Amino acid sequence: MKLGVEAALVDGLLVAGDVEVKDGRVVAVAVSSPGGRGIAVPGFVDLQVNGFGGVDFLDADVAGYRRAGEALLETGVTAYLPTLITSPEQQLLAAMREVPVGEARPRILGMHLEGPFLSPNRLGTHEASSRRDPDAALLERLLDAGPVRLMTLAPELAGAEQLIDRLLERGVAVSLGHSDATAAQANAAFDRGARSVTHLFNAMRPFLHRDPGIIGAALARDDVVVSVIVDGIHLAPETVLVAARAARGRLALVTDAITGAGVADGSYSLGNLDVHVSEGTVRGPDGVLAGSVLTMIEAVRNLHDLGVPIEDALEAATSTPARVLGDPELGRLDIGAPADIVVLNDRIEIERVFVGGEVRVAV
Ligand code: ZN
Repeated sequence: MKLGVEAALVDGLLVAGDVEVKDGRVVAVAVSSPGGRGIAVPGFVDLQVNGFGGVDFLDADVAGYRRAGEALLETGVTAYLPTLITSPEQQLLAAMREVPVGEARPRILGMHLEGPFLSPNRLGTHEASSRRDPDAALLERLLDAGPVRLMTLAPELAGAEQLIDRLLERGVAVSLGHSDATAAQANAAFDRGARSVTHLFNAMRPFLHRDPGIIGAALARDDVVVSVIVDGIHLAPETVLVAARAARGRLALVTDAITGAGVADGSYSLGNLDVHVSEGTVRGPDGVLAGSVLTMIEAVRNLHDLGVPIEDALEAATSTPARVLGDPELGRLDIGAPADIVVLNDRIEIERVFVGGEVRVAV
């Protein structure tokens, strides 16, 4: 099957011509395409989704995952990590038992546990009563409860090194976040194998000239991916551009979306917290930002609107987040790769979404 597009983003470069798909995989690019329309790009990979389409992943069953998945597909996401914020252990364990594995569309790559081993000083909206200092036995219980793929932790906590080692041993990627770490503490964790920072700038020690913290450490290295929430609310435009320039090729867009994303303004839950969505902003009862109602396609457009080339903005939604998970098949469009593809029009709007070569959204 040919997609009928005029070009494709192949390993970060726009290549003229159509894309041919067979048995769920891309078999040819740059195929002659008279009358082709739109651009084929890899499906989006979102590392941080708390909920979507009216569904909260802390309290979702299989039907809920299906509903959220349909809504995510509409926004171009073909693979994601359902994300659980700091919550009571029993609630986390119960939520992880509900995660569908295998044939879900979009693909569920595993869970992102954001917490509970976070800094008490940088919790944001995370529930303080459920925060924990590093606890090896608790980590094992969490890892045994479901398919954990990524964990966000604060590396400066006593015992965090052992957690990092154990997570890597079990094939779980480590991201630093909700943290008060100094640059030295962050660098030690990166040297140990942590490979990303969760929502850079938000909920961490601020960057100061003599105390650059995690932010300075991550931006100064070339082997760390930094995720950002580009919704026009979490970060000032200049802040996004600083990250985009310093971390070119290492910037990952995440939505940090909550239940209300893809639905309407109103009141929703984020774990055990009641949050209110109004004009694109999500706040908890104390007025603190509590996730977003951002979608990946909006994040791509927002980043591009700030002056970032479209190829770079798309890379930030596809191959770069995929790199955090170390899956070479994910987030790319090339011969042999799974045909997880979004077709965009020239206004960067979604026209079609394919997962494994199967059309799932057609506008
Ligand atoms: Zn967070």
